[in-house]
Amino acid sequence: MFFKTGSHCYVVQGERQASIYDLSDNVMLNIPSADAAMLLELNRGVPVEQVENINYLLLSQLVDKGMGSYYDNNAYIDKVRFGLPPSIRDFAKNRVRISNLYLNINDECNLECAYCSTDNRVNRMTGCKRYGGFSQDNVMKQNDYRDVLQRSHKLGCRTLHIIGGEPLLQWDLLSTILAEAHELGFSSIFIYTNLLDIEQVNWAQLSDASFVIHASAHNQELSNQLVRNRPDFSKFYENMNKLKKKEFPSILMYY
Ligand code: SF4
Repeated sequence: MFFKTGSHCYVVQGERQASIYDLSDNVMLNIPSADAAMLLELNRGVPVEQVENINYLLLSQLVDKGMGSYYDNNAYIDKVRFGLPPSIRDFAKNRVRISNLYLNINDECNLECAYCSTDNRVNRMTGCKRYGGFSQDNVMKQNDYRDVLQRSHKLGCRTLHIIGGEPLLQWDLLSTILAEAHELGFSSIFIYTNLLDIEQVNWAQLSDASFVIHASAHNQELSNQLVRNRPDFSKFYENMNKLKKKEFPSILMYY
């Protein structure tokens, strides 16, 4: 049995005390140095049974707070990174460049994958998730998207990834973002989709964007096991064939 802190959690050890920083919630949890040493050992992949003085109470608190999980295998947890490491911060001064911009435009989805939840944590690097953190107060308006695209473009960004939820369900917003990105000169635009609902797509407005199609199943039976609302899986192949006929650029990610 293994235990790892989440991709958004950093364990920082000071001389007298230590903390866990949860970057998804801006929460800091103070813990004794001995517990930090234990967590760092666990994060290095040492099995729970082999770490001395395990604090099971802390581990179960971290599980409850969504700050850590038990794993059967030595899972690799990719850490969310913000900013630059101190070693290259001076070197990179005034030379900051963005190569890829990920825009999460919605949390709605036409599927209910069993492994996807709407908790408010963005526990992922890329890909779709029914992130439930959007609210009237924090959702970006069309002008905000334009601003982000313009600023990113000024910083050298030419590759845009549009993710959700299911971005195709918000076609009006999506088409506006596509038009803006196209006008600014983004050369690679990827729209991440499950491809089950493409009726609303206006192909002419897609210009030179590509689809990244994520599929976790390849037949109805497997789809029924993984997706709670059991969509008609034949739609997926039907839409794949439509893309093929249109010779529309697409990448299939099967996982
Ligand atoms: S398709 Fe993606 S966003 Fe939709 S439920 Fe499945 S994992 Fe979540």
